[in-house]
Amino acid sequence: MKIICIGLNYKSHIEELNKTVPTKPVFFLKPETALTLRNRPFFHPDFSNNIHYEVELVVRINKLGKHIQKKFAHTYYDEIGLGIDFTARDIQADVFKNALPWEISKAFDGSAVVNRFLPKTDFANLQNINFSLLKNKQLVQQGNTADMLFSIDEVIEYVSQFITLKIGDLIFTGTPCGIGKVEINDELEGYIEEELMFKCRIK
Ligand code: MG
Repeated sequence: MKIICIGLNYKSHIEELNKTVPTKPVFFLKPETALTLRNRPFFHPDFSNNIHYEVELVVRINKLGKHIQKKFAHTYYDEIGLGIDFTARDIQADVFKNALPWEISKAFDGSAVVNRFLPKTDFANLQNINFSLLKNKQLVQQGNTADMLFSIDEVIEYVSQFITLKIGDLIFTGTPCGIGKVEINDELEGYIEEELMFKCRIK
C-alpha cells in the first residue's frame, strides 16, 4: 500500500506557511514504513529538532482505480479516518532552499499516524466534517472539511490520473492552520466531531 498526502489544501494553513494558493492539488507520497498504527508511540527522530504535527482527515481506498472521474470517486472509499502527517520542518526548509526532493522531511519511519476508521455513511456530508487535535489536552488544531480547496472526490480524480489507486491506499487530505512542534512526552489526541480517533505519545 501507499500513502498519498495532499499539501496546501486549506487556506488557513497556506497563509501560516506564506505559500501561494495552488491551482491544482499538490500531492506527495509516504511509504508503508511511515505508518504508526494502533495508538503506538511516535519515536522522535534524532535528525530533526523541529518535528511538526499536521492533523488531517484520511480516506481509505477500497477499489483499484485509474483515471477515476469525480462523479464516480465516492465509490472508491467507504471509510474515513484521522491521522497525523508528521513533518521535519527544519529539514523541509533546507530541501526547499535547494529545490531538492522533500521525502527526508516527510516520508520517514512513523511519520503517518492513523488508527480507527468510521464508515462514511456516519456522515451526512463528507465536506462538512469537524476535526481537531489536542496536544497535552489543549486544543491546537481545528478544521472543517468544507474549507478544503480540493474536495476528497476532486483529489481522487486528480491523483488517479497519474497514479493507480489500490485497495488499502490512504489519502491524507491536508491540514488546517495551527501546526506546531512536538517534544518528547507530548501526547496528541485526534477527534472527528466528538469521536476520539487516535492517541499518540511522543517518545
Ligand atoms: Mg500535511
